Amino acid sequence: MTQMTMTMRKRKRIALVAHDHKKRDLLEWARFNRDLLAEHELYATGTTGQLLEDELRLQVRKLKSGPLGGDQQIGAMIAESAIDFLIFFWDPLEPLPHDPDVKALLRISVVWNIPVACNRASADFMISSSLMIGEYERLVPDYQDYRERIRGEAVL
Ligand code: PGA
Repeated sequence: MTQMTMTMRKRKRIALVAHDHKKRDLLEWARFNRDLLAEHELYATGTTGQLLEDELRLQVRKLKSGPLGGDQQIGAMIAESAIDFLIFFWDPLEPLPHDPDVKALLRISVVWNIPVACNRASADFMISSSLMIGEYERLVPDYQDYRERIRGEAVL
């Protein structure tokens, strides 16, 4: 499949999501990295976003709570190239009612090749990367062949 590039601006649009047992972890991480996060636009699922806003005193665009559609909203924004970067502290020890949404969010992040950190160590490496402080040309598969797949086949 051929590739195209999409430019990530210096000021990244970062989505943050943490499941309930991971919220403390995310808040600690965000507090430690507050000054770096302040350089970017922050988005989050509802409860995570409120906690982050209270903790960081930074503006966070809050979507719906994850189980009420927030994960899907973030997934849709990734597909629309409106989110550049995902910090997603999901809980590996507990089944959740919105597990399909969690899987879908992780899947769509791979489809569009956006950076995803699912734990603190990965988030540390990502936020401190030299790629955070400038523009970045993100390679994205050119899905044109996929979109046109039916036209080439006799499906009628
Ligand atoms: P919440 O959603 O931030 O509204 O708690 C997180 C999630 O469970 O996806």
